[in-house]
Amino acid sequence: MSGPNYTSRRSRLLRAIKTVGVDALLLSGESNVRYLTGFTGDSTWLYLSNAATVLISDSRYETQIGNECCGLDVDIRDARKPMSLAVADVVKKAKARQLGFEADHLTVAQHAALHDRIESAELVSTSGLTERLREVKDKWELVQIREAIYQAERGIGVVRSSLRPDQTERDIRFTLEAAMRSFGATGPGFEPIVGVGPTGALPHAHAGDRRVSESPILLIDWGAETHSGYRSDLTRVFVTGRITRQMRNVYDTVLKAQQKAIAAIKPGAKCKSVDAIARRVIANGGYEKYFGHGLGHGFGLDIHESVRMSPLSEQVLEPGMVITVEPGIYLPGRFGVRIEDDVLVTNAGHEVLTSVPREFDDAVVEFLA
Ligand code: ZN
Ligand code: ZN
Repeated sequence: MSGPNYTSRRSRLLRAIKTVGVDALLLSGESNVRYLTGFTGDSTWLYLSNAATVLISDSRYETQIGNECCGLDVDIRDARKPMSLAVADVVKKAKARQLGFEADHLTVAQHAALHDRIESAELVSTSGLTERLREVKDKWELVQIREAIYQAERGIGVVRSSLRPDQTERDIRFTLEAAMRSFGATGPGFEPIVGVGPTGALPHAHAGDRRVSESPILLIDWGAETHSGYRSDLTRVFVTGRITRQMRNVYDTVLKAQQKAIAAIKPGAKCKSVDAIARRVIANGGYEKYFGHGLGHGFGLDIHESVRMSPLSEQVLEPGMVITVEPGIYLPGRFGVRIEDDVLVTNAGHEVLTSVPREFDDAVVEFLA
């Protein structure tokens, strides 16, 4: 399959910037620059207007940009020339009057430097323009995301079949990361969360020294990153010993919340309404205050992207969006259960892209003697 059409992505962005009243945009967000040009390095900004498209970088990346972004104009700045001055020169030459910058990807210091150097144009704050384009994935991106899911799912298969009571959270993390790499991943899509019992009750815990045998509940939140930079994001809970009736009840409640929310995913559905469906199931089970985060999020080049599935999100689902659905219940000091799958919004409704079994019986792990 041929690669992404960067020219068409940039044309769509050029149309979008007109609606916010600027005639040029300065992109400093690394994933946005990658999305628009294919450049995989850092410290490189993109100037975009109808008159000019220029990557502003330094000599470390000259060859790489030539290889990855064939045909794009490049401004390679000298080590003694600050980025702000390089940008000012490009802006002056291209005769921009209103230059949009990415408020979400520019530090206060960087903004001040641009403000000092750029005299020929007015700086205008913008937010989410490229992120909005990135919400809807094209065919090529969907192939990459499916690949990242494949790598993650093969990886967890290795972890599961080699699980032992004496393994620590850290041991499992290493096994998982190595396994995903062996199936083609460049690495994990983010630092995997491996939590035994109380660790799993912290929604963003780090893998530590707790052993599998210390609790019958093990939570793993993981994903892979492909060579193309796309990611996957899943969570499963494994039952590794005798569990209490409450643990079973929590598992069933989370799964029911997730399945009901997934069933409601279709074009036109409001993100906050889908979130509310899961939240209601959890509240009816009596666990309302133990589900503090949003239901899910978009992902792709970044692990957390627009759209947001939360009680506050007015966003509406569209075909081509890929989102996680990940309700959870966390009982502090005891255990946590979260079940997370990756879902594509289709014209007809949705397709669940992830296929690791999620029923309770599938979660039960029998150790080999
Ligand atoms: Zn996750
Ligand atoms: Zn997630």
